Amino acid sequence: MKDKIVWPSLANEQIIKYLEKSILENNPEGSYVFSGPDNIGKSTVAKSFAQILLCKNKGFLPCGVCESCRRFTIKDNEEYFSHGDFTFVTRAKDKKNISIEQIRDFIRVLNMSSFAGGYKIGVVKHAELLSTEAANALLKTLEEPKEKTIIILISSEAELLPTTILSRCKILYFKPVMTEKIYDYLVKERNVSREKARNLSRLSLGRPALAIKFLEDEEFYYFYNNNVEDFLHICGSGINERLMLVEELTGKEKGQAGTRIAHRVIEIWQGVCRDWLLLLLGQNNYVQHIYLADEIKHQGIEYTEAEIVRLSKLLSRAHLYLKANVSPRLVLENIVLNF
Ligand SMILES: [Zn+2]
Repeated sequence: MKDKIVWPSLANEQIIKYLEKSILENNPEGSYVFSGPDNIGKSTVAKSFAQILLCKNKGFLPCGVCESCRRFTIKDNEEYFSHGDFTFVTRAKDKKNISIEQIRDFIRVLNMSSFAGGYKIGVVKHAELLSTEAANALLKTLEEPKEKTIIILISSEAELLPTTILSRCKILYFKPVMTEKIYDYLVKERNVSREKARNLSRLSLGRPALAIKFLEDEEFYYFYNNNVEDFLHICGSGINERLMLVEELTGKEKGQAGTRIAHRVIEIWQGVCRDWLLLLLGQNNYVQHIYLADEIKHQGIEYTEAEIVRLSKLLSRAHLYLKANVSPRLVLENIVLNF
């Protein structure tokens, strides 16, 4: 029996308790779906779960010093690292789906016997992007589970996975973490100033991995803030400036990378609209962007509730167009020319 298990401090407690029990009783499931919004800690928990199961030392788990643990911690922020008994697959950067070839490789690695004589663990990130062939290949493996082999499918849109796959997995639903908890973590464990912690914890909307990404990845934070400012700016601008912004946003990246940027930009704009509506309704406590009220005043923009609602609908529909392969430029132009 292990003495104590160390998990990421911001994780979903119920899920942690459940997984911990299965580790202590030595009866984890053969396959899981980790379902929930992006950046909520699903990958972090999957990685910790794998690290604990593969740790070679009994007692304080994960020990952090055995050969297996070291592979998990050397590059803590890197998703790709080499470990004989842990394998990871996600969509390639320039592709729309996870391909059958990728899943065949994934299965091949899982089928090899364990280096350490213990578990073999495989994680599929963005599992909703499995191509039909890839999903079918994976299904065959799920139908014939092997002892001590664990497959974890991570997805923010688990409802899009084939029911044949879902029915063979234990589904765990990850929920947003309280803003106060993220704030405390940033102040106490990351030594972030109170003001910055207040800002980041609100911006992350209950998604701890997003708060940490804002903290650690300056470029990402800059991109976010820029898009909030640009959006407010064009709300008060004429057609030329609006089209110039679309040109700027879509000029650099082509193909799937361009589509992903457009999704991201639209999500940020949706966040601003949600706050804008909250401000108009006097619900200032729930506002994500703390300085939005001042900024809107500063830019001198006046939109009614009905206009913001219409804009929000326009933004929601834009995601569907992008998914249907309409070019990011057309989709963004359609937004900026219609509000
Ligand atoms: Zn260890």
